Amino acid sequence: MNRSRMSDAVIKKPSISFVIPMFNEEECAPVLYSRILKVCNEIKAKFELIAVDDGSSDRTLSVLKKLRKKDPRVKIISFARNFGHQIAIIAGLKYAFGDVVIVMDADLQDPPELIPEMLEKWRGGYKVIYGVRDEREESWLKKFCYKVFYRLLLKISPLKNIPLDAGDFCLMDKRVVLEMRRFKEDRPFIRGLRTWVGFKQTGVEYHRPGRLAGKSKYDFIRLFRLAFDGLLSFSTLALRMTIFVGLIISLLSITYALYISTNRVLIFFKVFNADVIPGWTTPVVGISLLMGLQFIFLGILGEYVSRIYSQSKDRPQYIVDEKLGIRDR
Ligand code: UDP
Ligand code: MG
Repeated sequence: MNRSRMSDAVIKKPSISFVIPMFNEEECAPVLYSRILKVCNEIKAKFELIAVDDGSSDRTLSVLKKLRKKDPRVKIISFARNFGHQIAIIAGLKYAFGDVVIVMDADLQDPPELIPEMLEKWRGGYKVIYGVRDEREESWLKKFCYKVFYRLLLKISPLKNIPLDAGDFCLMDKRVVLEMRRFKEDRPFIRGLRTWVGFKQTGVEYHRPGRLAGKSKYDFIRLFRLAFDGLLSFSTLALRMTIFVGLIISLLSITYALYISTNRVLIFFKVFNADVIPGWTTPVVGISLLMGLQFIFLGILGEYVSRIYSQSKDRPQYIVDEKLGIRDR
């Protein structure tokens, strides 16, 4: 909706949809609900909390149902199995019909207390307000990987305004959510897509505490998978790089071949016996280097091909087992 057409009442008090992916968050869900409730009561906001249960194996779903019994503003989408955090957000966005939509994690690493500040920026005309983490309370290795990843993404993707150190925690105007719903990617990278959509975007800085309870669902393998999805879905630089490296290697080997052949000719004329002891090093190093590079490039190619393959099957992004309080509007 155009801001000029948005009524003053909406701007003053927008209805808020929270989209919260949950995978084994039985301990966090009730605390999260009460923290959100407190903030929304303070600012007297109308809200709905869309919890997407991403195939939890603990009691998350029954905890959510209990919350819903108490407060029907808690709405539930329950997946038939675990489809992943990013897909869970996509599902939540499909059914979020508030004037603004807030995406946040269930473990309270994204503090609901930031909402008034985000709303203020939204009233100021921004359509996406994302949280920017200052210092993370995570292991140095994870912190280091995050740093490298975001900087690499910024360097190689055409999205030059992709925010550094911003995660999925954000407030989006309903206009942006409408656009986000059009993505049919089977391996979506929400924070990239959100930047790709455009509109006026800004960040609010916040301190990201450790998770309230339970363990992080992102081990290193999952983090790398997400990082790969981000890097590969927003850049074909890796593919182009292979051509570039291939060209350089070809040039080097042609030069080297020329060098060797002139040497051979000289030796031939000088001593008349081809006393060239065949060395090991050059061919072995050369071959293994080239083989290594070839496998790397094959791997990169394979990554893109596998993405084309999985997207071409056109499978549904997720399967819903149960929907409670969710209507297709
Ligand atoms: N999550 C999910 N499905 C998954 C993994 C995670 O819905 O397969 C949810 C999880 O419950 C949490 C959010 O995604 O609400 C972020 O996960 P987590 O806190 O484990 O990630 P981290 O903050 O450690 O990066
Ligand atoms: Mg977390």
